[in-house]
Amino acid sequence: MLVAQVHSNPDVFEARVPFENISTNNTNCYIVKDGDDALVVDTGAPSDEGFAILDAALAELGVDRARLRFFLTHLHLDHAGLVDRIALPGAKLYVSPVDFEAVRASRAASSYDVARRAFVAEGVSPSDASGYARYAVEPRLFDASRLTLAPSCEGDVVEVGRYCFRVMETPGHTPGHLALYEPESRILFSGDHILFVISPSIALFPGGGDGLQAYLDSLAKVRKLGVKRLFISHGESRDDFDERIDWLAAHHLERLEETRGIVGSAPRLTGEEVIRAIKWNVPFDAWEDISFVQRWCIVTEGVVILNHLVDRNLIRREADEAGINRYFCDYR
Ligand SMILES: [Zn+2]
Repeated sequence: MLVAQVHSNPDVFEARVPFENISTNNTNCYIVKDGDDALVVDTGAPSDEGFAILDAALAELGVDRARLRFFLTHLHLDHAGLVDRIALPGAKLYVSPVDFEAVRASRAASSYDVARRAFVAEGVSPSDASGYARYAVEPRLFDASRLTLAPSCEGDVVEVGRYCFRVMETPGHTPGHLALYEPESRILFSGDHILFVISPSIALFPGGGDGLQAYLDSLAKVRKLGVKRLFISHGESRDDFDERIDWLAAHHLERLEETRGIVGSAPRLTGEEVIRAIKWNVPFDAWEDISFVQRWCIVTEGVVILNHLVDRNLIRREADEAGINRYFCDYR
């Protein structure tokens, strides 16, 4: 069986599209169906096998392809990567205008250079900085010109048959991350906002915005909803998601305290030096033993933390004579 019913009224089906990552093997893609109307929530990563799974799931459910619409929680490859193969020309695609712009901007040549210089300013070696900046360029996800884009923001309604879903902005994992809520049944499609297998990574927001504060605010927002069922994008869904939300928030607050402690006990460290002193959840003692892609994730997350602490006046950032950022904690 390729598709499993995971909720009734509204009827929700789940198809698992393969995606190999550090902590997960699949993207959970959901199909909401009522009568002749259907909506796919996230498509999964692009591969022949993934396409075959999603295509067969839609066939098994008897979905009318000509009417099929798509909702993307965020613009990462493992969520938006199959859109081009599965969506018919002209199909309606609900997407965050914030993420859409962030992906477009990341692909501009100037953006790579800005990212590379930002990493160098944190004390990263020029060769590592070039590699990290290359990873920060989002791949091309789909051809928007053949689809009907529906830019979706807080409070927008997405109707599926008799049901009215509401778009919720839950920025953090990406600048424009969206969730989709049905207030009667209190089910929420939460994308990568809340996961059990891993603490979701936080994006570097355009213009140096405080992504971590946005993420913490988004956690509080979902916690207040009183959700009955949470449909997450990776790993098994669980009922103790309120506890998980509390744990995720506490985990970030602990790491902020730890980082502030590092800066306080050793003034003048560079960004990379501070980041390397943080205890990351990786099975390596030496920085050099960590894979390059994982180091990129860690450094990115570290800069997110430093940005937040600087933004909140909890630490101070000062460029030295060479233009490298040094950190101080001289507030009481
Ligand atoms: Zn994902």
